[in-house]
Amino acid sequence: MTDDGWNSGGETENYVNNTSYNKTYNQQRDRGGGQRWNSGRGSGSNRENRGGRGGRGRGGRNDNARRNESGGRSWRRSDAGNPKQYDNSDSITMDINSSDVGRVIGKGGAKIRELEEESGASIKISRNSYGSTTTVSIRGSSDSQSKAKQLIEDTISSGTSRYQNGYTSSYSDNKTNTFVENEDDKPVIDWDEVNRIYEKAQKERWENLPPMKKNFYEELPEVANLSSAQVSAIRKGNNNVVVSHTFEDSNEPIPNPVVTFQQAFHNYPDILEEIKKQNFAKPSPIQSQAWPILLQGKDMIGIAQTGTGKTLAFLLPALIHTDGQPIPRSERGGPNVIVLAPTRELALQIESEVKKYSYKGIRCVCLYGGGSRKDQVDVVSDGVEIVIATPGRLNDLIQDKVINVTSVTYLVLDEADRMLDMGFEPQIRKTLLDVRPDRQTVMTSATWPEGVRRLAKSYMKKPIQVFVGSLDLAATHSITQTIEIVNEDEKEEMLQNFIMNMTAEDKVIVFVGKKARADDLASELILKNISCQSIHGDREQCDREQALEDIKDGTVRILIATDVASRGIDIPDITHIYNFDFPRNIEEYVHRVGRTGRAGKRGESISLITRSDWGSARELISILEEANQSVPEELYSMADRFDAMKKKRAEEGGGGGFGKRGGWGGRGGGGGGGGRRNDRW
Ligand code: AMP
Repeated sequence: MTDDGWNSGGETENYVNNTSYNKTYNQQRDRGGGQRWNSGRGSGSNRENRGGRGGRGRGGRNDNARRNESGGRSWRRSDAGNPKQYDNSDSITMDINSSDVGRVIGKGGAKIRELEEESGASIKISRNSYGSTTTVSIRGSSDSQSKAKQLIEDTISSGTSRYQNGYTSSYSDNKTNTFVENEDDKPVIDWDEVNRIYEKAQKERWENLPPMKKNFYEELPEVANLSSAQVSAIRKGNNNVVVSHTFEDSNEPIPNPVVTFQQAFHNYPDILEEIKKQNFAKPSPIQSQAWPILLQGKDMIGIAQTGTGKTLAFLLPALIHTDGQPIPRSERGGPNVIVLAPTRELALQIESEVKKYSYKGIRCVCLYGGGSRKDQVDVVSDGVEIVIATPGRLNDLIQDKVINVTSVTYLVLDEADRMLDMGFEPQIRKTLLDVRPDRQTVMTSATWPEGVRRLAKSYMKKPIQVFVGSLDLAATHSITQTIEIVNEDEKEEMLQNFIMNMTAEDKVIVFVGKKARADDLASELILKNISCQSIHGDREQCDREQALEDIKDGTVRILIATDVASRGIDIPDITHIYNFDFPRNIEEYVHRVGRTGRAGKRGESISLITRSDWGSARELISILEEANQSVPEELYSMADRFDAMKKKRAEEGGGGGFGKRGGWGGRGGGGGGGGRRNDRW
């Protein structure tokens, strides 16, 4: 890197700036820091830096002196070949608290790139900060400069409380910076620091909260009087639900399960009426245990797949909670419930579930990137009680002050493991800074990895955990699972044979590893007059919705999908899952095959496995054996070979970080070890 501004990635701009540095710095010292705004124009303090590319060098004060010697205009592009021109060669500078730098840069430079895109200006953050402040230089047309300035101010102030009731925010701490740089000069989040700041801020911020009610449960004697043997029998019969305190910080009693809707909602006849319309026979296993816990106002983690009724498990208590708050709705100033979901598809699906239940005029909106921002903003402005959102879009709207989440008292993190997999942790944590800490928090997750545990520990209070069935295998028991060991070049023919043998009632999701593969396969089939749809992260939102619609209503019977569609999508009559590419990990396999065999029906899965998938063989064998499926001999020898190879590598002391997929090193691109997975969705 040749200049000392923060290179925000994408186009490399080698302009150098001068800025009104000395003046600002002195002002800062006089006024004790804080956010400053300086226009270089006409101030006499701008100087041309003749140094071109390397103009600023590295040192702190010496640089400063050097800049002042150079005199002249504030901006000069050293890269004459770069065609990007600005209609105004002046720059403006702005001094911000160093502790806000991380917020302006964003993870991996994402925020600053977004600010540049939105404003049309170039934004540079000085690598050197003096005292508690850091200089930001903005270059571009006057309009774009003003816009960038405004956006930066908004970005910074989004970390400041907007709560009108006199709560003060303090999570920007002058002495801290939540970003550290790694060896590649990339910003890495310092989570310990984030947690420290969070806790300090929470203490100071949330005083004088408006009243909130959490407990809406009245346990009927027939439930309260169950013996512990009866309770165990109910749980065992309920797909072996296991309930426990998540962390060792509580010995409060865990409420008994309910076995009828009446037992859970006897005080809420309107809810019972709504359930009746759905013709459900009885609470699903997760519901039978979750409803008493959630209606009591306790935090809960549901370890459950989609298809278990988990949405309704958190939704009905959310409706009762919303209606029962002591503050009148018109005075709450924002929504009561936020449901965060990893993908647009899942968010839309939750919305459609919510819309099936009308209760006391409670309204909801679904906010997701790719949908019409204006429409979504309009609905939010109209006032809604339930917001279902993907973390990125919700964050944008919070930052733009379209939505105020300080009124939220019931928070759901749906499919938390998936959200973390998709890199949403920073957005989730940012959103949670603005939600009152004594809220009720519900989390669902199909798995229970370290990241999810960490999230639970940071943001939940004495959560009770409800496991439905065995943690990893529940979804696979009603499915006949066939494994075909093949060479890569045999796959297409195998798929075509399968399609040729489909009956008129069959519906299949064909899972592939990459977006390009999804497109290729879809075109191949269409060229052969086989109608199909495809869904992956690069398709427009409306196309993705159309694809789901088409497979749901039977317009097509083949859906080609990347893993974006493997979770959360509820298509009840999928008869087959075809794993054209084996998934990158075994959890994903369980989620994929779980898309069939739903609602008590049987399903079938066919998985093509090549030698490069050998790292998954051992875990796959356990799943197949546990579900009483036949295991091809070759899969055993594949697993043995992989184990032997791992052992040999370990003995040789090399091969650090050999991933499950590593092996032959022949998969091209990726290079064994989970780089960016963007090409997969
Ligand atoms: P979910 O796990 O939330 O994706 O739910 C999967 C499907 O189960 C949805 O279509 C729900 O409408 C349905 N469902 C929810 N609760 C029940 C229940 N108690 N009995 C039967 N189906 C249910």
